[in-house]
Amino acid sequence: MDIRFDCTQCGRCCHDLRLPLSVDEAIVWAGRGHDVQLLCDALPSLSADPPEDIAARFRHDRSFPALSGGLPIRVAVILVARHEGACPHLLADMRCGNYADRPRVCRIYPAEIAPHVPLRIENKLCPPEAWADDRPLLLCDGVAADDDVRKLIAAHQAATQGDAPVKAGAAMLLGTRSAALWNEGYAVHAPSPDDLVAALREARATMGEVDTGGRWSVVSNRTSTLAMLRDADAEGRLCASGAGYIGFFADEG
Ligand code: SF4
Ligand code: SF4
Repeated sequence: MDIRFDCTQCGRCCHDLRLPLSVDEAIVWAGRGHDVQLLCDALPSLSADPPEDIAARFRHDRSFPALSGGLPIRVAVILVARHEGACPHLLADMRCGNYADRPRVCRIYPAEIAPHVPLRIENKLCPPEAWADDRPLLLCDGVAADDDVRKLIAAHQAATQGDAPVKAGAAMLLGTRSAALWNEGYAVHAPSPDDLVAALREARATMGEVDTGGRWSVVSNRTSTLAMLRDADAEGRLCASGAGYIGFFADEG
């Protein structure tokens, strides 16, 4: 599938951010005093073999082993720059005031990072004119047409895969112990920027030495999911959608 695109500099993607960051990028972003959250999800891990399904494999490669009750799980932590309203780097004329140093995702958008996720124009914030037929090619047969964008996507994929053990250590140091069930939502943890930078730095410096064996709760806004978790010997906990939980489904119970 070919998709044509050119940025109109409307600035919509620079508002109400949840920008996925690598560990290096999170250290820089939070180091400037800006908020970075940890979005955590968990998936039961019943086999030692990596999954064959491409989406599950992509997630597996960016997760770490843990336990919830007696159930082996794999926890994935996504670091996101979080801002309501305008990005702190956005200038009044909608240009980026951090252009040379902006995160990879800002350079890649509206292309997708995960190879199994197709770009859906209706899910993007860009206005219709950005996708007009006279725009340059963004995707050629579903692959980024621009060599630099392909390299950025590959670099971000590699960084987030290599970051998994650092995130495991940082989560332990921050006392982060709850995750949503994969594909149901995210547990949201919001440490102070200073605490996050310190934890990421310490986890990286002591990689392999931080005890990452803490037990996790799997949180859900659905009573039906909790019953399933308890049947599986996991430690489940009911929560409502809100600041600490992003649910993909309506609250139950
Ligand atoms: S860093 Fe720049 S490009 Fe990225 S969200 Fe902020 S203003 Fe937009
Ligand atoms: S929403 Fe799309 S068109 Fe608007 S600034 Fe962002 S990338 Fe450009």
